[in-house]
Amino acid sequence: MSQPSIFTRIMNGEVESDLVYEDDLVIAIRDINPQAPIHILIVPREPFVSVNEFDEGHAAIAGQMLVAAAKVAKQLGLDQSGYRLVINNGRDGGQDIEHVHMHLLGGRRLGWPPG
Ligand code: 5GP
Repeated sequence: MSQPSIFTRIMNGEVESDLVYEDDLVIAIRDINPQAPIHILIVPREPFVSVNEFDEGHAAIAGQMLVAAAKVAKQLGLDQSGYRLVINNGRDGGQDIEHVHMHLLGGRRLGWPPG
């Protein structure tokens, strides 16, 4: 079996993190290497490698990632100014950690298109 991801280790309390939100399906933590004044990672408790594993049976979890994003954005005062949600998926998507996660970035004007 593959090693638990860093996010699973955080959920198990083996690695420290700055938790900003949690529910039965997802957690949200501050990114250790922030790319914006506010940079949060929203991570399902279940360790899907990537979005490729999602099907209709995972709609509640996939949906809860967005629900959590909305809650965290409000909690951190980004809902009026705006923010960006990003899921890097696979090699060309720039995914480093093989446990699906959504980035919530805000607190400055973000450029588009992404690099
Ligand atoms: P990816 O490139 O896979 O989309 O994003 C992985 C993110 O996880 C990166 O933004 C990276 O800074 C963050 N990260 C990596 N290791 C840790 C860690 O131990 N704790 C936290 N909070 N974030 C991490």
